[in-house]
Amino acid sequence: MDKLDAKIVSALERLSHVLRTLLWEEAGESRLSPIQIQSLLYLRSHDEKLCRVNQLAEEFGLTPATMSDAVSSLEAKGLLTRKPWPQDKRVFTLRLTAKGRRSAEKLARWSDVLTKQLERFAPEEKEQALKFLLKLIESLYRAGIITVARICLTCRFFRPNAHKNARAPHHCALMDKPLAESDLRVDCPEHERVA
Ligand code: SF4
Repeated sequence: MDKLDAKIVSALERLSHVLRTLLWEEAGESRLSPIQIQSLLYLRSHDEKLCRVNQLAEEFGLTPATMSDAVSSLEAKGLLTRKPWPQDKRVFTLRLTAKGRRSAEKLARWSDVLTKQLERFAPEEKEQALKFLLKLIESLYRAGIITVARICLTCRFFRPNAHKNARAPHHCALMDKPLAESDLRVDCPEHERVA
């Protein structure tokens, strides 16, 4: 492996360790497993249409059966409920209960420390970092290493470098508006995969 590549992998591994530690500290005495924590955080920030059990399984790279076990456990703890999906009564969508939402809000505070550190960096540096990370996610997605990537770079509505304006060179055909590098989305609810 190229020296620079090895350093990037090492830095990402270090960051991944830090993120996991911060999350575990926030989870404290909650007695939730990593997948249960991920599920609560996911349900807190996604539309109902993205909250079906199979969707979560795909999101986390798990089998539907494993995901279903995690969901049953959260249900037993009174943290979420299942609701029939209006378009197909055989399918269930998941909703946080009031107790589940309180837990998810608490867990979501894990990222505050990181956000505080990011405030120290110049917008241009952060824009470059976002651009690199999105390209890395796109590359992992196209290689089949991750199955879900609701980012502009994999969306059928994305038109890269459609404008001469250097500040907002890209275009979203769904919203019909130019996009700056910093506007590119990491988890867009309107995302549709390129065919
Ligand atoms: S729909 Fe969302 S993901 Fe797709 S190009 Fe527009 S903003 Fe990006």
